[in-house]
Amino acid sequence: ETLKGKCYGCGAELQFVDESIPGFVPEKLLDKPGVICKRCHRIKHYNEVIRVTLEEEKFVDILRQISTQSAVVIYVMDSFDFEGSWITQLKKLIKDQPIYVVVNKIDILPKDINQQRIRLWIKHELEKKKLPVQAIFLASAYKQWGIDEIATYVRNNKGKRDVYVVGATNVGKSTLINRLIPLLVAEDGIEASTKLFDLPELTTSVYPGTTVEALKIPLSRKSAIYDTPGIVKKDRLIEQICPSCLNIVTPSKKIDPRIFQLNDQQTLFFGGLARIDYVKGNKQSFVCYVSNDLVVHRTKLEKADELYEKHYLELLSPPCKECESDLALTKEYEFDIPANHETDLVISGLGWLTIKGEAALVKIRVPQSAQVVKRKALI
Ligand code: GDP
Repeated sequence: ETLKGKCYGCGAELQFVDESIPGFVPEKLLDKPGVICKRCHRIKHYNEVIRVTLEEEKFVDILRQISTQSAVVIYVMDSFDFEGSWITQLKKLIKDQPIYVVVNKIDILPKDINQQRIRLWIKHELEKKKLPVQAIFLASAYKQWGIDEIATYVRNNKGKRDVYVVGATNVGKSTLINRLIPLLVAEDGIEASTKLFDLPELTTSVYPGTTVEALKIPLSRKSAIYDTPGIVKKDRLIEQICPSCLNIVTPSKKIDPRIFQLNDQQTLFFGGLARIDYVKGNKQSFVCYVSNDLVVHRTKLEKADELYEKHYLELLSPPCKECESDLALTKEYEFDIPANHETDLVISGLGWLTIKGEAALVKIRVPQSAQVVKRKALI
């Protein structure tokens, strides 16, 4: 293995050994001055990103480096998978750098959602997790909602500091950066480096782990925005299913809530990834907020075991046979909810169900990698 020089585009060390990681160039180009690696070449000329393998330790290093820079941090979270987009070590690694939280993908939330309520809920969650933040924005990078507001805030508050965009994979970092760049560059006006303008938009993709290495995008001669790698949370449900199953469980447009009037002793399956048993309580509605493409199957509790055994990976899918991980429903949660409540039971990565009013005993089974949390209903 020979490593000389660095890629002029992304700064990765040049190498000619592994095409699947950044810095790859054909051997004969290794010593050429100003050479860019294959990945940067593709981004630049074809607008596509080569998926690379990601090491978790590397992200920790990048986050730790941020603590030593003059920086502000935009922490992107997914409004649909708040738990899944939580980075446990963030505060510890970046120390006292100012954090602006962007809660992305609000376009997929049902239309009757109250934004003020979401904001308060998120504020409360961040306080509970002891993460001090300077601002919280609700946004849809995809629909370009809330982007002006973020850009204005960043412009007015970042001073001369660089901007680092961090977040778990697939929360929409690249999409957000693509939206922010023109707005932030416009502000720096003449100062903006010309190099930027031949940089095409960053490519985005639905599969986790598409953004690799910290990519520097100059905003001016003095400051830059850094697109950091997505943090792969291996214990996250969506990291464990195949790309086509991921497409099914990740909502790409507004969720249409599905309402089931359940008697007790009835069961719902979210594909084969979650089983919800209504063990005890009066007849009431269970409103499911999951991807419109995910099958919600209803059955009697006494038949649920048999149905699961017979139809797992088929009728009860995702997961499918292509998914490599063991996603059996081995983790169990029990919620004993007293009357007069408004409750969401949130299954990380899959969505949530809302019940209101009647007392209920609910049992939820999920794969080891999923978490289930109870919160006050958002809607
Ligand atoms: P990254 O891995 O964090 O850089 O995420 P990407 O920007 O690559 O986005 C991951 C997937 O989420 C892509 O399919 C995007 O189109 C999609 N996405 C990003 N932002 C939004 C958004 O605001 N709303 C919706 N519905 N999808 C989004």
